[in-house]
Amino acid sequence: MPCVPWSGATLCKTSFMKVTGMGSRMIANALQDLRNEHVVPTPTKRPGNTKNVKHPRTKFALAVIDAIARVDGLPNPGQRGPMLLLPVDKTKKAMHEDYLRVHKDTSPSTTGGDALSYGDFVYVWRRHMPWVVSDKLRTDLCNRCMELRRSKNHVQLKLHLLPTRLERAFYHAHARFAALHANTLALSMDKAGTCRLPHLTQEPKDIYYTTGLAVDVFGIANLGTAHQVNYVVPETQRAMVQGADFMVSLLHHVLEGYPEAERVYILADNTAAQNKNNCVMQYLSARSVLRHQEIILHFMIPGHTKAANDAHFGVFKHAFKNKDVYR
Ligand SMILES: [Zn+2]
Repeated sequence: MPCVPWSGATLCKTSFMKVTGMGSRMIANALQDLRNEHVVPTPTKRPGNTKNVKHPRTKFALAVIDAIARVDGLPNPGQRGPMLLLPVDKTKKAMHEDYLRVHKDTSPSTTGGDALSYGDFVYVWRRHMPWVVSDKLRTDLCNRCMELRRSKNHVQLKLHLLPTRLERAFYHAHARFAALHANTLALSMDKAGTCRLPHLTQEPKDIYYTTGLAVDVFGIANLGTAHQVNYVVPETQRAMVQGADFMVSLLHHVLEGYPEAERVYILADNTAAQNKNNCVMQYLSARSVLRHQEIILHFMIPGHTKAANDAHFGVFKHAFKNKDVYR
């Protein structure tokens, strides 16, 4: 691999691997995929190789999973974790039932004997085809992705996912760069969600029929250190948080805490009222001039904007669920 330009510097292969956190095998596979014009990376077969499976019962079970995955499986739009997602209703239990049905209608010479038990079926699946999993319930997905997934237009879906992969790689590269360089700051910001207060783990009957105070939680995550600052605003002040003014105040509060940052990367979603507007642009422009900071404001493609702050809010929600919170 030749030297590559990266954020104003030229990196050799070793430095590139250190900055991006990629191993030589991953780089070799990515280059091979590019040469073969594969848009979606070839699934890794490291945990198990279906070609080396010799036992006919195992082989038959894997063939059934493979046949279902070919018909119902779709590329993972999140681009993390498993490569092929089965529909939500194709749970392990449902897949095992499908397997038993096919097993019953097939001759014993093909199936290799008795059907696998549920436990064995799941073990064989996990061991040899970990890149196929059942999808989970999700929200806030891209309309175009859902359209293409429903119409099973795999080619268009892969082409649609290509720019989102590049955007995500850009985001990850900045997060890793910030983790390694003290003078670089990478942030991602969004409204994380709404909670109701008071929140009690042991709820008395009287409280069950009352509606608590809704509080909006805005999260600004530091991608380099994986820390998040949550700003909590009660519904009584909701009018205040609708505009860009509020986001600028939050950004200013966070950025003032990092006076040494020379380069700032900010990931925001495409909400015009809060992030994608003149007010935020003018504030950041003024800041870059007055504080001599290089500022990159990045908007990912709508529907593909899940970032660290969403993951951190998941941790927050988990902690919130098991605690008594009054105010
Ligand atoms: Zn999409």
